[in-house]
Amino acid sequence: MKLLRYGPPGQEKPGLLDAAGGIRDVSAHIPDLAGDALGPDALAQLAKLDPETLPRVTADRIGPCVGRVGKFICIGLNYSDHAAESGMDVPPEPVIFAKATSAICGPDDDIEIPRGSNATDWEVELGVVIGTTAKYVPEAQAMDHVAGFCVINDISERDFQNKRSGQWTKGKSADTFGPIGPWLVTRDAVADPQALTMYLDVNGTRMQEGTTATMVYPVAHLVSYLSHFMRLEPGDIISTGTPPGVGMGKKPAPIYLKPGDRMELGIAGLGVQRQRCVQG
Ligand code: ZN
Repeated sequence: MKLLRYGPPGQEKPGLLDAAGGIRDVSAHIPDLAGDALGPDALAQLAKLDPETLPRVTADRIGPCVGRVGKFICIGLNYSDHAAESGMDVPPEPVIFAKATSAICGPDDDIEIPRGSNATDWEVELGVVIGTTAKYVPEAQAMDHVAGFCVINDISERDFQNKRSGQWTKGKSADTFGPIGPWLVTRDAVADPQALTMYLDVNGTRMQEGTTATMVYPVAHLVSYLSHFMRLEPGDIISTGTPPGVGMGKKPAPIYLKPGDRMELGIAGLGVQRQRCVQG
């Protein structure tokens, strides 16, 4: 299933995508695409519905594909070729940092370049949405706790991230730095999360191209690993790192986003995001 949330910011309703790509309202069946509605029982109930019997809706806006996200955990340097372009070594264990949940926005919402920013950058990433509580989970059972997957643009202000003392959260958390969606694609609908091609364009120029096949630490490892440091709960999101091609690594000089720039990014089977940059 491809599930989504649609409507104005803060008032999104849950929906699912029908076979023709239309949006069907499922708000009579789940209150929101959030919390317990992401568990296997609730998803199984949704899967039994015949989309043709659900109200068809038109939406002016697609919202973030998960509501009430409790934790937004990102993995740093999880592609060896991206670590190289960043001038950093592949870490012996996953590097983790937090993105403030207030950064979350819809997949096609405008991206605000923060005041004082000279180095706002892009990162296409595979997002993992937790469906059931995970604590001390072995890697072999880790995927049982995953509700599904989505596209994430882990927008990053490199100077805030790297030159303003301390760790990375500062450069990752501005408003609109976390577009998620368009869809939450349920785990059963993704044959192999470690074989997904991904890309990101800026103003029509291909900047990032990669595949989740080259992740250093695959999804099952990341879910298990994180669950030994913190309890993962339904609706938590893990952004699993970015392939090469970020603006910071461009030669001969870095390329950063400016107002008016447009991004398009996608992951095979998970949909496409399109964003315009504006001054924050
Ligand atoms: Zn990232």
